Amino acid sequence: HQSKLPNLETTIFSVMSALAHKHKAINLSQGFPDFKGDQKLIDLVSANMNAGYNYYAPMPGVLKLREAIAKKYDDLYSSTYNPDNEITVTAGATQAIYTAITALIRPGDEVIVFRPAYDCYIPSIELNGGKAISIQLHKPDYKIDWNNVAKAINNNTKMIIINTPHNPSGTVFSKEDMLQLQKLTNNTNIVVLSDEVYEHIIFDDEQHQSVCLFPELKSRSFITASFGKTFHNTGWKTGYCCAPKELMDEFVKVHQFNVFSVNHPIQLALAVYLEEPNHYLDLSQLFQEKRDLFLNLIKDSKFTFTPSKGTYFQALDYSNISNENDYDLAIRLTKEHGIASIPISVFNKNKLDEKMLRFCFAKTDDTLKRGAEILCNI
Ligand code: PMP
Ligand code: GLN
Repeated sequence: HQSKLPNLETTIFSVMSALAHKHKAINLSQGFPDFKGDQKLIDLVSANMNAGYNYYAPMPGVLKLREAIAKKYDDLYSSTYNPDNEITVTAGATQAIYTAITALIRPGDEVIVFRPAYDCYIPSIELNGGKAISIQLHKPDYKIDWNNVAKAINNNTKMIIINTPHNPSGTVFSKEDMLQLQKLTNNTNIVVLSDEVYEHIIFDDEQHQSVCLFPELKSRSFITASFGKTFHNTGWKTGYCCAPKELMDEFVKVHQFNVFSVNHPIQLALAVYLEEPNHYLDLSQLFQEKRDLFLNLIKDSKFTFTPSKGTYFQALDYSNISNENDYDLAIRLTKEHGIASIPISVFNKNKLDEKMLRFCFAKTDDTLKRGAEILCNI
């Protein structure tokens, strides 16, 4: 048979976590907290399991959870999504992204993707016969020149994927970026897929720029989000998608047959847990303290950096340390120094190597201290 994705390699997150495990390295590669989430939430899930909610959840998600999600958008952004037909609970953001792309992209459609790009976007486009049009951004600020976006748009452009706060660079979109995007897509049929999984992890008084704050953008956008990132349980694989009804109608047609519905006891627990805004509003402070601890501990190392503005990742520039490409260096640091990271070139166009490694700081202070000590000796 002929592979549908002939050039695809195993995702870097599996590669680096397996290597870290094999060499007993400190794993600052794959993005997941190494500390336990709130016991209250875990207790809610187990209570729901014991109460017998172990059968299929409703196809678009538990209504109470969709209502709690709608309330969050209303409270935070004064933006209305109808829980009946504009919100679907998904198996993590990954499924939401795949489903949104599959619902809309036909063979020959072009999708604009900013690189470095989170690694599930392009294979999802290509599996559907779409063509990813990459716009490469560069260190240290990874700023978008919107003139380049204007030039990339043509009659085949069906979708633009954005991600703010941005994995892996830790940069965030400004209001001006959003206005530019809104202007470029106005009066077109282009749909925006806005991957907002790090919406609650944003630092230094930056404001999260959700597409839902910009009415014309909102009318053409899917938002994808992840409870795993917000509530420290990436292994539960629960997230959601919001979109105006006409887009959500198409999304649901795919959703009902690529997953049908997701984890019932977890959804019921999240519905209750989400009622308390501090459960997500406290997140930025927690991770800003971790970012500051990590950066303070490595300030005398040979790595250079621009502090992350959001996400729980810090990109470090190692050009003062080595000429090796970032992939080889990430492997060597894991094997020889006992610290694992993610080489940013894997997310770049043609694997452009800008001598940058990504480190996850969603770790206990002890893990960060041990990791920083190694980095200071490199
Ligand atoms: N998008 C980005 C930018 C991510 O970093 C991740 C990883 N959390 C995802 C999507 C996928 O999220 P999930 O684990 O909920 O599938
Ligand atoms: N989003 C996580 C990261 O960027 C990884 C998720 C995964 O392993 N697929 O590290």
